[in-house]
Amino acid sequence: MDSSNEVFVCWTIDCEATQKSIADVSLGIRSLRGYADLLNETGLNSTLFVLPSDAEAYPELLRELAKERFEIGLHYHPHEEGHDEFCGAYSYENQVAMYDMAIRRFTDAVGFRPTSFRTGSFSANDMTFPAVAQVGFRCCSSSLPERRMTKFRANWSGAVPHVHFAHSSNRLLEGDLDLVEVPVTGDPDSMLWSGLHPQDLRVELFDAKNQFFLIDKMLVREKARAAKVRAIVTLTHNIFEYGRVDDFRHVTMKQMIADFQSLARKHEVRLVPATIGQIADAYRASSI
Ligand SMILES: [Zn+2]
Repeated sequence: MDSSNEVFVCWTIDCEATQKSIADVSLGIRSLRGYADLLNETGLNSTLFVLPSDAEAYPELLRELAKERFEIGLHYHPHEEGHDEFCGAYSYENQVAMYDMAIRRFTDAVGFRPTSFRTGSFSANDMTFPAVAQVGFRCCSSSLPERRMTKFRANWSGAVPHVHFAHSSNRLLEGDLDLVEVPVTGDPDSMLWSGLHPQDLRVELFDAKNQFFLIDKMLVREKARAAKVRAIVTLTHNIFEYGRVDDFRHVTMKQMIADFQSLARKHEVRLVPATIGQIADAYRASSI
């Protein structure tokens, strides 16, 4: 089949209902079930990035979802693990030890190893990708190109905006690490928060009308991208009432899904639902 108009679409959700500022496990479960229902109803795939403490709080639900169109990855906020800095402030050795410990906690809780990885707040330094590869991950989604939030140690100015193999010593370059990075989709023409953050497709950021224009623009951008694998990555968090049909986020996400479909038809783009792992596999296959 001709894949020249193919664009992968991955919905991602950071699962962190147990983080100290939220601490509401039942909200996290309700939210995740509602989110999963919306995607199941429309045949879409998603990667869940889950804190070790969330994995310990609702392992049954994660095991149940892992059988369907969901990939269960690891999410890591050092502050939730007793540390006092963001990922991008730690050495290679420290990051290896921290991620390794988190993998063990996650695996003990749910009974399988996490398959993909995302740092909290998109925080990273040049040692993050080699550390993530070292602990055994084969793909991650830890970059948000053009984010410039030093307070989170999350500087991605000039980062590679398409799916690529990470570099062993520079997070902004393509390289030869055995680790595929799938960047989160953002629009550098629309910088928010005093110019520090590109508008992205996080459900909670705007209403559906606003999201419509970004979906439209990103579909056109990806279709024209000269890359082997094109992908759009959205994001949200399991702290909203996705299970309630009258909830603002539920309504926004449902409309975003519908708009992806209608705008893909308008631009003659074939949307392929995928997890981060499936996008990474497609990229590896295209790189042989
Ligand atoms: Zn997070």
